Amino acid sequence: MWSLRAWRRQRILARHPISSDAWRMLDERLPIIAGLDTAERQRLGERAVLFLHDKHLSALPGVALDAHGRLLLAVQAQLPLLQLDELNWYQGFHEIVLYPDDFISPQRHRDASGVVHEWDGEHSGEAWQQGPVILAWPGVEASGQWDGYNLVIHEMAHKLDMLNGDANGLPPLHGNMRIDQWASAMQSAYDRMNEQLDADPDAETAIDPYAAEDPAEFFAVTSEYFFSAPDLLTAAFPAVYAQLQLFYRQDPLARLRRIEALHTH
Ligand code: ZN
Repeated sequence: MWSLRAWRRQRILARHPISSDAWRMLDERLPIIAGLDTAERQRLGERAVLFLHDKHLSALPGVALDAHGRLLLAVQAQLPLLQLDELNWYQGFHEIVLYPDDFISPQRHRDASGVVHEWDGEHSGEAWQQGPVILAWPGVEASGQWDGYNLVIHEMAHKLDMLNGDANGLPPLHGNMRIDQWASAMQSAYDRMNEQLDADPDAETAIDPYAAEDPAEFFAVTSEYFFSAPDLLTAAFPAVYAQLQLFYRQDPLARLRRIEALHTH
């Protein structure tokens, strides 16, 4: 059947092929995409091109954004969606704002006694409900390694979380997943980190202590680890890795092991 959407899509892809030069740059800058097979790489590339067509990237003065930089961002944004099809997972926002550096943003928090605290926090990224994603460009450029840090994936995970309301650490799960299993895996790991940090605020936690901030940050930080340090995440919280594997329908740990095997031969 003829479909306007498919036709439009094909036309965009035909007009904006990713050059072999650009792929070389992506492979060099994004070790976390190593281990994808040919079909996955092609899909990732196409989705990145369509994403750039769909979203408006606003670079503030001081951000030198060129075609390679745009792709660098888009490929990382699309990696989590590589095996997710049935929904427009990045719906409801159109703009990504790029700051030249970390930025100060007013924070509000209502504590258990109902008192609202406000302060200025320094941030490298932010995702607004029904609004833009804000990224500090140096954070985007520092992302893509197998090191547990990925600013793009972190903020996009907040967007996935917001698909079904406020960010609360529970994105819309698939039909083969159970909310109680998700909740118990996430909650017990989250509680364990908080107990450790309550006992010693400087404790060496297995993953970034920012995950213990609230359930939304727990989901965003563990998503970062899932794609960029799956070995650390699965060693610390295997049940969390298993739930994220069901959610993202990917197994980055298997990719990492394949790459490691190649390098030891
Ligand atoms: Zn966050």
